[in-house]
Amino acid sequence: METQKTDILLVGAGIMSVTLATMLKELNPDFSIIIVERLDSVAAESTSGWNNAGTGHAAYCELNYTPEQVDGSIEIAKALKINRAFETSLQFWSSLVEKGALPAPENFINPTPHISFVWGERNVAFLKSRFEALNQYAQFADMEYSEDPEVLKEWMPLVMEGRDPTQKVAATRVSYGSDVDFGSVARYMMEHLEKQDNFELALNTDVVVLKRGVDQMWKVEMRNNKTGKMRVINAGFVFLGAGGGAFSLLRKAELDEVGGYAGFPVSGQWLVCRSPEIVEKHWGKVYGKASIGAPPMSVPHLDTRIIDGKKALLFGPFAGFTMRFLKNGSSWDMIRSISLDNLMPILAVSLRNFDLLRYLIKEVLKNQKARMKSLREYFPNARDEDWELAYAGQRVQIIKKHPNKIGKLEFGTEVLATEDKTLAALLGASPGASVAVAAMIELLESCFPEKMARKEEGKEGEWRTKLGQMIESQRYEKGRLGYDRDLLQRVRQRNIDILKLQ
Ligand SMILES: Cc1cc2nc3c(=O)[nH]c(=O)nc-3n(C[C@H](O)[C@H](O)[C@H](O)COP(=O)(O)OP(=O)(O)OC[C@H]3O[C@@H](n4cnc5c(N)ncnc54)[C@H](O)[C@@H]3O)c2cc1C
Repeated sequence: METQKTDILLVGAGIMSVTLATMLKELNPDFSIIIVERLDSVAAESTSGWNNAGTGHAAYCELNYTPEQVDGSIEIAKALKINRAFETSLQFWSSLVEKGALPAPENFINPTPHISFVWGERNVAFLKSRFEALNQYAQFADMEYSEDPEVLKEWMPLVMEGRDPTQKVAATRVSYGSDVDFGSVARYMMEHLEKQDNFELALNTDVVVLKRGVDQMWKVEMRNNKTGKMRVINAGFVFLGAGGGAFSLLRKAELDEVGGYAGFPVSGQWLVCRSPEIVEKHWGKVYGKASIGAPPMSVPHLDTRIIDGKKALLFGPFAGFTMRFLKNGSSWDMIRSISLDNLMPILAVSLRNFDLLRYLIKEVLKNQKARMKSLREYFPNARDEDWELAYAGQRVQIIKKHPNKIGKLEFGTEVLATEDKTLAALLGASPGASVAVAAMIELLESCFPEKMARKEEGKEGEWRTKLGQMIESQRYEKGRLGYDRDLLQRVRQRNIDILKLQ
């Protein structure tokens, strides 16, 4: 069996691994890096353009990031954080465009206004409060609000045409929102990586065994799915960017750190319209309010999509239940992931999240007629013949132990690292690809604290300095983008100019 050594091994060729590999090569070009991918192409799972909604999540339009509190106030901390995280991705991509590592921005990101739209007295009151809470912050100062049907008709004609004129409606809009083809971002970054020395992409290669080897190295055994040939790589640092596949890999590694963890997969479907006369009439991502019990990422939205240069409209997602952790995974994924240590958390979550189960059952039972009925709430004149069903990727939510509730369902993402910081994994699904850059910086901070130290911690780490040259906000203390108006304006304008977002 072939045995080889590498500094860094990343499992999975989705946006997370490719972002981390790109960053590591910028920070230390001498690193030897291998990316291992079980499929025959890059970004073919959740990162693929059609497997996700391509929303550059900046919290401009997603109402689930600003929940209403019991006292009627709006919690905006999450929205502010996600907005900063997305601005971090935009800074990184801008730098890569400037240095020619990414092509002209229209190949992967396109300006698409982000609109929140609601109807009914109560929802209108909520949207107004949300707007007032956010608009006082520089990050959201350009957000517009209107209850005027004429204005809304201008913003989103398809949504307003054929609507009951007595219905009370309201919307907010941020004009420099974006539609991102994350599949293209990952593929372009991979092309750039492949031009560099000491880099290898191993496709059709499944990691089957992961265990601690000698000298603090990880012994990673893999099989070529085409030839059946086995290969062993000893790696100094391993990142599991395997999407839903990370759960089973962590179990294989028998880490104490993952005791009690389990995955809860939710699949998705879209209605897609490619008819040019309709597609040309809509420009934006129009997000509404989620149904009761719906997981946060199942908020309905009507989106302009631009994938591989082609325009389409997408409506959804319609959630479904599945046992697979990857779209190209096995129906046994979930069953195989259950063990004695995570059984109780799984049972606790199943019993406590009754609204979610009821929501999923309702979604699974929806036929095309019911799906079109949901679409007509956003596009009243939609015709059956213009829309077809397409399948999205898998999202695997985290179930973990909780001291009081026994088990808890998490809808965010989590970076998990071993105590010795030689292996890290990304679990969870939301906000997802949009915050890949911030998530990977968090991972670097956790696993390479000295190199990533900030000035205010004493001595600025070597990697922090280099990162600051690409991502200006990384030169300063955490969160500064949120309160330093000059910095925000400078960074945002640069992103808008380079990525042509307005
Ligand atoms: C329906 C839906 C809508 C979404 N909408 C948005 C959105 O609008 N905006 C947004 O920002 N995010 C969105 N997301 C989330 C986003 O798509 C994901 O967070 C992101 O793509 C995850 O990237 P990743 O690299 O972690 O995983 P993936 O893209 O899934 O890549 C993981 C890779 O690992 C490989 N792999 C797995 N196991 C192994 C193994 N044992 N050996 C080798 N390779 C392996 C897989 O084949 C796969 O290629 C959405 C997701 C879904 C499902």
